[in-house]
Amino acid sequence: MSKEYLWLPFTQMKDYEQDPLIIKEGEGVKLTDIYGKEYYDGYSSLWVNVHGHKKQEIDQAIKDQLDSIAHSTLLGASNVPATLLAEKLIALSPTNLKRVFYSDSGAEAIEIALKMAFQYWYNQGNGKKTKFVTFTNGYHGDTVGAISVGAVDLFHKIYNPLMFNSLKVPFPDAYRHPSGNGGEAMKDSLQALRDTFENHHKEIAGLIMESKIQGAGGMKIMPEGFYKEVERLCREYNVLLIVDEVATGFGRTGKMFAVEHENIKPDIMTVAKGITGGYLPIAATLTTEKVHQAFYDDYTKLKTLFHGHSYTGNQLGCAAALANLELFEKENIVDSVRKKAEVLSETLQPIEQLPHTGDVRQLGFMVGIELVKDKQTKESFPFEDRIAYQTTLTMRKNGMLSRPLGDTLIFMPPLCASEQEVKEMTAIIHQSIEETIFNKSEMS
Ligand code: PMP
Repeated sequence: MSKEYLWLPFTQMKDYEQDPLIIKEGEGVKLTDIYGKEYYDGYSSLWVNVHGHKKQEIDQAIKDQLDSIAHSTLLGASNVPATLLAEKLIALSPTNLKRVFYSDSGAEAIEIALKMAFQYWYNQGNGKKTKFVTFTNGYHGDTVGAISVGAVDLFHKIYNPLMFNSLKVPFPDAYRHPSGNGGEAMKDSLQALRDTFENHHKEIAGLIMESKIQGAGGMKIMPEGFYKEVERLCREYNVLLIVDEVATGFGRTGKMFAVEHENIKPDIMTVAKGITGGYLPIAATLTTEKVHQAFYDDYTKLKTLFHGHSYTGNQLGCAAALANLELFEKENIVDSVRKKAEVLSETLQPIEQLPHTGDVRQLGFMVGIELVKDKQTKESFPFEDRIAYQTTLTMRKNGMLSRPLGDTLIFMPPLCASEQEVKEMTAIIHQSIEETIFNKSEMS
């Protein structure tokens, strides 16, 4: 039935039909399929899971909320858990952020950020600031606005005719820069950014970027100091800084938010994924009181932010998020991720030594392992080989689930994973790379 009725997201159904995976249960860092086979959740169910599956406190919070109400609209009316959660989010985020605008997914939080930034200027009589600056290889979601400011060719190129133009600046990619050096890559990027601002700042509403690390673009980490300099240039040229914390937020990088790595104060910040601990679809766009004030006026002036969906601010989701954030405090999650990330870094070293591992990139519990045909020249495997995809199929056979990004294997364990579990998962990755590449060379 799964083959017959479903059309899965970001999935070639011809692949899926070969050996359909159907998950039935989850507990802790493990998922179980309908045949009873267990897998490590090596991608935190698409980067969302924090405390593991079936976490008693979150389960209970949702059940308790059901005793009051499951959902009422946030359009023109508030609710209790949405209010409590907003207060909590403001307390946790950079001190300049004061307002929370809810949504249902990371991509939607981005759409809101874009509309908010454009309308911020428009409401003040400046309709010329309509453009956005973005970085090459950035990812902000799959809706039309979000892909317009994204630049992962594999997912985005085909939809080019539907997109609005954004001004793209090269991301400082240390591994792929001709110099192979982060400092040089950063210099080139900052020069390009300065030039773009110099030539276009009067038309630029905002700059949008992932926070400290590009996730879906293959786990590419910014060289130290780059983030701060981008922030400084945004201030200098009067451009709003929009930071996308959808993947990085809530402890994933070893800080509550990745802005903390360089003490960044964004004008707008998007969060999603880990906000409910991986339970329910809640997202949010946070901003300053200054931005909010630009929308505050008589209704007839049409300064309202015209955005909101049927399930915005859903009570069950907000209750789950509140329970999730309480657990962050109670179980000291962020510090524990930082400590366990050091162990993870050690266990990744043998993988780094493998003949086809080009680069291993890690920030906290976000890991990308880029496979290459030739380690010396950094030549990639042919596209048709689907080397990382094949490796994840081997991983699945060996008891762990993940999804690759191009030729990069992704490892994003739930933040609750113990040192031992992290070691076991890394061992599966190691074994699966060797097995896949060995089998491939046997065949060719
Ligand atoms: N921004 C970033 C940085 C992301 O990594 C993602 C999803 N991987 C999104 C936005 C989109 O989030 P969602 O899938 O919840 O729409």
